[in-house]
Amino acid sequence: MEDIIQLHDRKFKIMIPAEKIDQAVETVAQRINADYAGKETPLFLGILNGSFMFMSDLIKKIEFQNELSFVKLASYDGTCSTGCVKSLIGLNNSIEGRHVIIVEDIVDTGESIEHMIHDLEARKPASIEVCTLFFKPGSYRKTLPVKYRAMEIGNEFIVGYGLDYDQLGRSLKDIYVVTE
Ligand code: 5GP
Ligand code: MG
Ligand code: MG
Repeated sequence: MEDIIQLHDRKFKIMIPAEKIDQAVETVAQRINADYAGKETPLFLGILNGSFMFMSDLIKKIEFQNELSFVKLASYDGTCSTGCVKSLIGLNNSIEGRHVIIVEDIVDTGESIEHMIHDLEARKPASIEVCTLFFKPGSYRKTLPVKYRAMEIGNEFIVGYGLDYDQLGRSLKDIYVVTE
């Protein structure tokens, strides 16, 4: 893949090559393997669409018996895109008494995972932790702990490895950052 790519109206340049992503996924997977060894069948819950590639690579490195499922966060009505309450759709499994690991592409302000955790807690799981590929410490506005962060980045906009810019860029195997 080229070092500079064009998606819609913006140019992006390469920031994190696939090999570096793989190392970070390996490190976070080993932490989870150590922490969850011996626990009753944990459930990995991926948030679509952004987490599909991370989930796919992460789960192959998990050494304990597990289940996995995907959910979407959707606005209550189709009219608000940001700053409105989001609901969790597509969760059919009962999570009561289960150890749940939320798998996210990126935690920015923390708004999305806060909604998600609030909804999941009402369903009485044994535990909930968040595993995110990217964490932006400079924009995080919440106090909820985000235990597993594969990589931390600044307040820049990235695409690739599942993350999109208006639906483009998800299939890129490397991470690209928007240029000025
Ligand atoms: P939060 O609710 O934590 O502010 O934002 C979470 C969501 O915003 C992510 O799941 C993702 O969809 C989007 N997002 C935040 N930062 C970025 C970024 O740098 N790149 C892309 N592609 N999406 C982002
Ligand atoms: Mg996401
Ligand atoms: Mg997006």
